[in-house]
Amino acid sequence: MASNWAGNHTYEATAVVRPASVAELSEVVASNEKVRALGTRHSFSDLPDTTGVLVELAGLPEVIEVDPGSLTVSVSAGVTYARLADQLARGGWALANLASLPHLGIAGAVATGTHGSGDGNRCLSASVTAMDLVGPDGETWSTARGDADFAGSVVSLGALGVVHRLTLRVEPAYEVLGTQFTGLSWDALDGHFDEVMSAGYSVSMFTRWTDQVDQVWVKSRDGRPPVGGLYDAVESGTTLHMLPDGDAGAVTGQREPGPWHERLAHFRWDATPSHGAEIQSEYFVPRAHAPQAVAALRRIGRQLSGVLLTSEVRTVAADDLWLSGAYDQDVAAFHFTWARRPEAVHAAVELVEEALMPLQARPHWGKYFSLGSCVLERVHPKLTSFVDLAREVDPGGKFWNGFLQHRLGDVR
Ligand SMILES: Cc1cc2nc3c(=O)[nH]c(=O)nc-3n(C[C@H](O)[C@H](O)[C@H](O)COP(=O)(O)OP(=O)(O)OC[C@H]3O[C@@H](n4cnc5c(N)ncnc54)[C@H](O)[C@@H]3O)c2cc1C
Repeated sequence: MASNWAGNHTYEATAVVRPASVAELSEVVASNEKVRALGTRHSFSDLPDTTGVLVELAGLPEVIEVDPGSLTVSVSAGVTYARLADQLARGGWALANLASLPHLGIAGAVATGTHGSGDGNRCLSASVTAMDLVGPDGETWSTARGDADFAGSVVSLGALGVVHRLTLRVEPAYEVLGTQFTGLSWDALDGHFDEVMSAGYSVSMFTRWTDQVDQVWVKSRDGRPPVGGLYDAVESGTTLHMLPDGDAGAVTGQREPGPWHERLAHFRWDATPSHGAEIQSEYFVPRAHAPQAVAALRRIGRQLSGVLLTSEVRTVAADDLWLSGAYDQDVAAFHFTWARRPEAVHAAVELVEEALMPLQARPHWGKYFSLGSCVLERVHPKLTSFVDLAREVDPGGKFWNGFLQHRLGDVR
């Protein structure tokens, strides 16, 4: 059977099918007992999996239609951010933000609350204004902002049906300037977390939680690097990869302003992102607790170092989407890129969770974590409402799987 992008999970499903139309998709969903949508396979667990059939939407006819009146784009669910961004930029349009890589499918990213960085930037799911889905009986249904079920339906983890079309907010195209810094000391970060993270439109810190913050990437929308530098960090004159052995040629342009879609993601669409042989984890901590999270991770930094390639710290603005990592609160996101050594990663993840759970951390649904429903219920105030919504939409549990059973509980 096929496996995910990182190669750490082989899908249990009996088949992966690629319908060529929404009518065919409806037929596949209606005629199979268990079905799940599969995106571009970038999540790091059995989240998309099923004991039945996986459906990929890349075979649907492509739709990318901008409506300048409502400032939205309607897009078919098999499209990736790389393709959408390219088409939008050609027409003079933009999205508010991107994740670290544009290779992701839009529907999968939206279903998992995928995000970029920026104090004023919400997760990518928050730009959705409407969605069209195929429900368990093969019938299509729609939900739009303003509908009672909308806020519960966007970050859906694939549990409410197969999304075949999304409508997203757009804005006029803009330029971004990337500036990279090295060597921000812990002393400089202490007491200045907010200032560092607000140094640009989108800011990422990279660290291994030992000696210092190794790199800070600041993406400015006004075309100016941070005035007066960044405390004791030094501006880099060459393009850096966040991993010591990474190919800098895979990183998007730095030091010169450029179009949003060639700057906001860390990785170029035509290059291999990140490391490859890796597993990722990430936790959203309420923004006010970010300095405590930094201190807690520094305390365990040496214990993580055998398996940690790098860690990225970003910020995400609050939204109203029930299962979003930033539901109802601004958050700092603490990400970990691990070597692909599942047992060592599991042990490291337990350490990280011990450090961050007292701070009410929420795990990223698409990345690797060990927490079960008892703990998740405490940090996701709308988790039970989401399970109720899933029960209403899909009473037979066609879209429910082992991952959801363990993390969210029983749907039937
Ligand atoms: C190198 C790398 C870098 C990453 N960087 C970031 C980052 O910067 N920020 C971040 O937040 N995350 C990041 N991620 C994680 C990633 O965004 C999520 O795992 C996301 O789910 C990937 O989308 P996908 O299409 O690959 O999802 P898949 O793994 O294919 O599926 C994930 C979930 O989405 C559901 N789904 C997919 N398509 C549909 C559909 N049409 N209808 C209904 N449900 C659907 C699936 O059922 C499943 O539950 C990264 C991952 C990798 C591998």
